[in-house]
Amino acid sequence: APAIAGVRHIIGVGAGKGGVGKSTVAAGLALALVRRGLRVGLLDGDIQGPSLHILLGATARARATADKRLIPLDLHGLRLLGMGLMADPDKAVAWRGPMVAGAMLQMANMADWGALDVLVVDLPPGTGDVHLSLAQKLKPSGALVVTTPQELARADARRAVAFFEQLEVPVLGVVMNMAGMPGPDGRMLYPFGKPEGPLAPGAPTLAELPLDPAVVAASDAGKPLVSGDVAAGLDRVAGAIAAKLGL
Ligand code: ADP
Repeated sequence: APAIAGVRHIIGVGAGKGGVGKSTVAAGLALALVRRGLRVGLLDGDIQGPSLHILLGATARARATADKRLIPLDLHGLRLLGMGLMADPDKAVAWRGPMVAGAMLQMANMADWGALDVLVVDLPPGTGDVHLSLAQKLKPSGALVVTTPQELARADARRAVAFFEQLEVPVLGVVMNMAGMPGPDGRMLYPFGKPEGPLAPGAPTLAELPLDPAVVAASDAGKPLVSGDVAAGLDRVAGAIAAKLGL
């Protein structure tokens, strides 16, 4: 039985280090799953550095019902919840690990998600209490790991893969983000290095997403990209995950 009533599958999106595009991919994956006609929830599990509410252009806060259940925000066809939608998001910055993990679980468990095919959880960067709680309490169907081709990021991503394996969370695959961009003469440039081979055994690359300045502009404007090579890559990721989960 699912750990959250009415939620068929929970997927964690993690990364070894910050700044590789984990939140962008989590949001983009959730939107790609919506495009497939699935019922999708998105939980910002990055309690101390939430960004999904900005990426998705949320203008309202989450509300609570009289019996203290949280109502996720409906936007772009999905249901969003996170610290960024709470009354006092800055409070969490001084919290200790167990409190941070507790807040993630509370949001996951106390929300009125309704019936969902997939709940995507954007995890904090690195490996920590939130990941442990996700694995032990929410029984996720799997995890997706985001990295850039840079060896510095890949090394940390390999640690994230090993961590999920230790927690017995199946690694569904890897997204290689910022994996090249067309230069002025049309030839590809690789500012973070050329993606070469799979990250780790058992962690297939589901997509290589190009570096696209339009993504930066879209995130800042709160209007996620739904077309172009990055969105197309995320459609492939969503397809691969849907196939793996039988959705
Ligand atoms: P993380 O969650 O790993 O810290 P973010 O998703 O916040 O990373 O992304 C970090 C920055 O990189 C943001 O400004 C985002 O808009 C940008 N970004 C992410 N993916 C891409 C991409 N494929 N092309 C261009 N910019 C990107």
